[in-house]
Amino acid sequence: MSHDPNCIFCKIIAGQIPSKKVYEDADLLAFHDIHPWAPVHVLIIPKLHLASMADLTDEHAPLLGKMSVLAPKLMKELGVNNGFRTVVNTGPDGGQEVYHLHMHAMGGPRPWLKG
Ligand code: 5GP
Ligand code: ZN
Repeated sequence: MSHDPNCIFCKIIAGQIPSKKVYEDADLLAFHDIHPWAPVHVLIIPKLHLASMADLTDEHAPLLGKMSVLAPKLMKELGVNNGFRTVVNTGPDGGQEVYHLHMHAMGGPRPWLKG
């Protein structure tokens, strides 16, 4: 299924749910996470509905490549200049809550991590 009408991120792609978009092209959308864990926290998603990494096949490799290349570009544009973390949660034991594949990109000063 390329679009799931019950999926919250497909609704964001369709403009049925508002989001603070930071990037969009034919394949990808990126927007600010509604509950940020870091000073800058964006989600990068494919427009194609893929529930999780568990659904990936070889044909999706270029799409994942595009997501990975976009992350540092967006972090730089959003003023993150001292490193960032990328996370993809997969399945219940991976802590996945939204079943539309997404990459978290989190940056900004995180003093609670320092010694
Ligand atoms: P997961 O645990 O599935 O990797 O993370 C899902 C993320 O999506 C969470 O960080 C959550 O805050 C974010 N999220 C869930 N619903 C919405 C929404 O409607 N809008 C936005 N911008 N983020 C959302
Ligand atoms: Zn979806």
